[in-house]
Amino acid sequence: MYKTDYHIHSTYSDGRSAPEDYIGSAITAGLNEIGFSEHLTLFKDSEGWNMNPVNLAPYIDNIQALNKKTKVIKVKTGLEVDFFAGREKEIRDYLSPFPLDYIIGSVHYLGEKTVDVGPEFYEGKSIDRLFESYFDSICIAAESEIFDIIGHCDLIRIYGYKPSFDTEPLYRRLAKTMSKHNVAFEINTNGRNRPLADFYPDRRYLHIFREENVPVCVNSDAHMPSRVGQYFDEAYELLRVAGYTEMAVFDNRIRKMVPF
Ligand SMILES: [Zn+2]
Ligand SMILES: [Zn+2]
Repeated sequence: MYKTDYHIHSTYSDGRSAPEDYIGSAITAGLNEIGFSEHLTLFKDSEGWNMNPVNLAPYIDNIQALNKKTKVIKVKTGLEVDFFAGREKEIRDYLSPFPLDYIIGSVHYLGEKTVDVGPEFYEGKSIDRLFESYFDSICIAAESEIFDIIGHCDLIRIYGYKPSFDTEPLYRRLAKTMSKHNVAFEINTNGRNRPLADFYPDRRYLHIFREENVPVCVNSDAHMPSRVGQYFDEAYELLRVAGYTEMAVFDNRIRKMVPF
């Protein structure tokens, strides 16, 4: 079975190890491709967790060189870019000169803070409103058509807060939007290592993405080599149960579907 892991962080952003240190783990995990996706956050000062944009060109050179010298598996060059509604043109223009295999679009920021900064972000706020605005932002990110993959599309679940309403319609709307704008989603297995202790997105709704024909990838969001490909067997089994038979593979920002 063909396997990829396109959501990996190295020391170019907030991962613990250099890119070359992930290759052995990727081979052990039985992957055919590993792809790096460092955090890039435009319009904000770079902090510890995201790459300084001046390092973008050297990062791409380094990953491409690593691909050349790695014989057993393919090494793909990607990014995980923060989405900010209203800044679509600037994001697209900024990214367009760079030779990337795929771009993951993620919503970490709601306002000035990121939703995964700590549970205190949620205190004193309406959880219902937070879920609604998070899904609004993710839908706008999908509509922008800047991205090939939407990252952890319900990251707002990270600390286990639940809204008072039935969330199924949020997922239906999101899946329809992603399908219309031809963008893939990921099963992000790293949610299992976070307070949520489960994958993103909510496993109860995977069938909705299938029904709406949204392409899928399975990604670990690993920040250390030992987590490359983590929990993938379970993720693929969930996809099979939801009716998926193929997954999205990216090369030079062109998507191909391969059976799994
Ligand atoms: Zn992320
Ligand atoms: Zn990530």
